[in-house]
Parts: sequence; structure tokens; C-alpha cells
Amino acid sequence: MSDANAALTPEIEERLNGSPLIVMLDVDGTLAPIVSRPEDASVAPETRAVLERLVAAKDVHVILVSGRGAEDARDIVRVGGVWTVGNHGFETVTPKGELETDPDLADQSAAIAQAARELEPIVAAVQGAKLENKRWTLSVHYRLAARDAVPPLRAEVERVALGLRLRMTDGKEIVEVRPIAHVDKGTAVVLMGERLHGFADGASIVFVGDDRTDEDAFRSLRARAPRAVTIRVDESGEDESAAEVTVRDPAAVHEFLEWLASHRG
Ligand SMILES: [Mg+2]
Repeated sequence: MSDANAALTPEIEERLNGSPLIVMLDVDGTLAPIVSRPEDASVAPETRAVLERLVAAKDVHVILVSGRGAEDARDIVRVGGVWTVGNHGFETVTPKGELETDPDLADQSAAIAQAARELEPIVAAVQGAKLENKRWTLSVHYRLAARDAVPPLRAEVERVALGLRLRMTDGKEIVEVRPIAHVDKGTAVVLMGERLHGFADGASIVFVGDDRTDEDAFRSLRARAPRAVTIRVDESGEDESAAEVTVRDPAAVHEFLEWLASHRG
């Protein structure tokens, strides 16, 4: 038994035996190690290989669930046959490559575009900060910014968001501007779970994530299905989490996926 699976009790392993098996995975910090510049993120070839084995296994569905745009997340992982839920649930790319977006959000994209225009000069003035326009949401990355520049930047982003009737959420070294509409990783994983019959009798469903926004998914999944398995990636092992299991890093997630694949193979 590997380190990652030392964290799994026999009772939890039993809950991963069902069919279909729905495997939902965050990308950054879960499959791909965190890097200074988000555009440099990548998934190890062996992790890509194990994901391919899972995709090919009978009655197993693999879904990437990311805060990145869906096509961006899919391009980082580069595994065929997966579902990709992007922008925390505002858009989905199907295994056939079709991009689906929520039509109710169409009128909100104008507010997001306006927020991007207002934030451009504000973010450009902070060295190391970066604005990313993901159409349905905006990200302001500040991992490379001076620490004392962060609180005023965050305040400015919040001011712009509220002025346009949008909301701001916090993640790791990032703030995001989103529509008020209640879409988050929690609603996203429940919708995908329902779509792929992951809550049917005898089905199994697991979600692995590392960030604050992933806590919505842990909570919603466990509320929807007590059988659901929730795994948090946390280097310190000290963060409070709604997830049932904690593993240390993307390497441990890889080991978990290897175990899952050999178990289903
Ligand atoms: Mg993450």
C-alpha cells in the first residue's frame, strides 16, 4: 500500500468499488504542481498516463474541475476522453470537445467585460500582478506581487466587482470576479455527478482538490451523497477542511490514481 492510500480506510476503499465510478479532479495543486506563473503549469507524463488508463476503464468517467477556463484546463492536462468543467462551473467541455456554457449567464458577460476594462490599469500598476480574462469570470493573480501591494489590490478588485453587481472570491494567491449567480465547484460537481449517474445506487464518486474553492465541492458532494469520497491536497496537513481524507501533494494524488486504476483494471 502506498503512502497516499495509507490515508484510505478499508471502508473508504469499499466506497470506491461502485459502478459507474466518477473521478472528479481539480487541476492546479492537485494534478499539476503549483508554479509561480500559472501559464507554466503542467501535469507529469505518468499522471497523464494513469488518467488515460482510467478513461479507458469500463464504467469510469474522469472529470476535470478547474477555476481555469475549461479549454485552458483541458490543454494543461492533455488527456483525451475527459470531461472538463471550467471557470468553477460556468462552462463545460464534453469528451467530444464541445464547449457548453450556461445561457443564463450571457447578460453577465457584459459586466465581466466592463470589470476587465476597469481592472486593467489597476492591475498593470502592481508589479507581478496579472489579470486574466476568462470571459465568464476574471482572475487577478498576485503570487509574484510584493506582499504589501496585495491588500490594496484586493480592495480595488472588490470595489470594481461590487460596483458592477459582481462578486469577488479568494483563492490561493488569486482573487476572482464572478457573476452573483450561484455557480461554484459545489454546484458543478453535483450537476456533473447527476449527469453521469454518480449518485445512483451502487455508483461511486470521488473528488480531489486543494484550494478554498474546492471546499464547496467537498461540502456539496458529501451533503448530496454520504458515500462520496472527498480528498484534500494539503502540504501542511493542518488546514481545516470539509474533506474526509488529506494527502500531501500531487505526487500522492498520482499514487491514489494508480491505486484506483489498478483496482479497476
Ligand atoms: Mg487547485
